[in-house]
Amino acid sequence: MAAPSDKLADPNFLAFVARGLNDEKHERRSEGLSFDPPNPSQRHAAILDSLAFLLVSQLEKQIIAVGVVVIEDPDPAKVETQIIVAENKTPLDASIQKQQPPVAGKRDSPPHLRPHIVYGTGSPVERELVDLEIALITYSWPKLKQRMMKNKRHLNFIDVVADVYGVLAQERIDLDSEGRDLLDTLQKSSASERDLLQEMTAAAREAAEALQRTPTRLNAVELRTNLQVLLIGRNTLQKHTSLVDVWDQYTRHRLLQKGAQVRKKPDVLRWLSKVSSIREHYLHIAQIPISPTLSGLLLRGVKVIVLKNPPPVRKFSLDRDELENILVSAGCEFIAKDKSEKSIEKFLDKLVVAHGKKVTDGKLDVSITVPVHCECLLLVHLHQQPAVPYIGVSKLSCGFCRMYFAAYREVTRVEFYARGSHGQTGPWTLPVLGDATLSLEIRQKSSQSTAASGEVAQEDENPLDLVRQERENVRAEKFRSADRVETSFV
Ligand SMILES: [Zn+2]
Repeated sequence: MAAPSDKLADPNFLAFVARGLNDEKHERRSEGLSFDPPNPSQRHAAILDSLAFLLVSQLEKQIIAVGVVVIEDPDPAKVETQIIVAENKTPLDASIQKQQPPVAGKRDSPPHLRPHIVYGTGSPVERELVDLEIALITYSWPKLKQRMMKNKRHLNFIDVVADVYGVLAQERIDLDSEGRDLLDTLQKSSASERDLLQEMTAAAREAAEALQRTPTRLNAVELRTNLQVLLIGRNTLQKHTSLVDVWDQYTRHRLLQKGAQVRKKPDVLRWLSKVSSIREHYLHIAQIPISPTLSGLLLRGVKVIVLKNPPPVRKFSLDRDELENILVSAGCEFIAKDKSEKSIEKFLDKLVVAHGKKVTDGKLDVSITVPVHCECLLLVHLHQQPAVPYIGVSKLSCGFCRMYFAAYREVTRVEFYARGSHGQTGPWTLPVLGDATLSLEIRQKSSQSTAASGEVAQEDENPLDLVRQERENVRAEKFRSADRVETSFV
């Protein structure tokens, strides 16, 4: 039986089939696999990404996208800046609205923002900015606690520092020779490194203690200072890669000797980055008063709009022959080369596992409830609105969202970007654009790209080569459209 062409032209259906490719993609996951917007250095891009990051308060699976719409009007009373917030699901309560994003404009803004303002000091504007940060820290308390203490990473750090300051490595009879050598290297670190480590361990201990308590203003002020120490420590340690490498090896060795299970290689820099990320993102937000794009906009009335995102329920049905036809029509080379039962059965098996279903009477029937991903929902909402052409997202986008943005740019010729993509795919739903003709064109482009993703994933290509090519294309595109982008939003 031939696959009906309407199925082949349906990105939702193809996204459902593409889940059979997931294993390969997970193995290929790479932190560096990203598709950057043409000008990531634009300050407003970093600010919007940080704003999205700071609005995440739930412990798991909350992804937030943020966009800005600028309503101009000859009547100054009608001039307005809208902050549009979308989530991968409809927020159950109005928690986002309650938390007004930290974007109040400041007319007497300082020309340069000092990286750390001591609480209760500084100019009135600086005091307000610190108050805002304290409010954000309080809001993110549970998430901060999770980042600090997950898998007892803070204790690993504190324990290793205690070893560095403790009994000389060669006298540690409880360690084997490898452990003694690693510790010996750490104990030989310079006096300034040792001072920093001592300060960091105190900060980690105090931060962990503060996070066990309730998020009062005082606890938040204390936590803010400790996070700043950990951020400085992170920035210093990342220049000492050989020390960090020995640090991670020793941490692992130590845990194994204690009989602990070590599933992930310890990564002290990653932990420090996660723990102190709220400060880093906040420092981006604090740039708003001195950002040429956003400060002007945010001096006017700001309205926060939270988009609803009710997931549609869709049913898909597929048998083995249909699957073969789809894979062949989509140009999946591994099927064209090897039309054996085995390769198609293998694909079908993966699909069954990915959707957690069974094949009944030769058919895989799946009912899927997947909301539109937040960056795509926002893109559709911002279409033809006077918006800053950048959507801030709290995490890198998936491969399908990247394709949708590319299709949108190609069809509408509007250069809208989000921060980039990790290239993985998961459950996905095609957004619907108000303009029916454009929507159809984007749908066609997306289904071509979604189908082509099968080809890409099965060939043994280096994903970085693809990224490099894409970056080249994007840079060329940027060069061509530089005038327009830069004159509208800098
Ligand atoms: Zn996505």
